[in-house]
Amino acid sequence: MDDFQWQVLNTAAKRGYYGASREDLFSDMRGVRYKQLEEAVKALEQDGCVEVEWTGPNKFVVNITEKGTEMVKSEYKERLAEYEKRIEEQKAAATDKEPEALFQCGNCNALVSQDSKECPECGAKFEG
Ligand SMILES: [Zn+2]
Repeated sequence: MDDFQWQVLNTAAKRGYYGASREDLFSDMRGVRYKQLEEAVKALEQDGCVEVEWTGPNKFVVNITEKGTEMVKSEYKERLAEYEKRIEEQKAAATDKEPEALFQCGNCNALVSQDSKECPECGAKFEG
């Protein structure tokens, strides 16, 4: 499911029993074009994730189906798992990094990174 369909489905899920009207969808998804919205809604309907009730030409209410609700749940889990994986990877990357090499400034005894050309505490210049 692409991000756009996911947004539509999510909005429908939020609206629950009342269903998501075209206006609900437009206000939830800024800058969306009607054609794009209609295509996503139709694709979701074909997949059996929503039922679409046409209330007029170009007007509709999207009701989420049981299958759609399940989709939202599993998609949430997937996205959450992905998110958690990313966080874990970031943590792993952070701990993999070499601890910064430090030395003591001969002038003020401040701990200074080995890369620095001058002491951030006292401004003493270091020879490379
Ligand atoms: Zn210093």
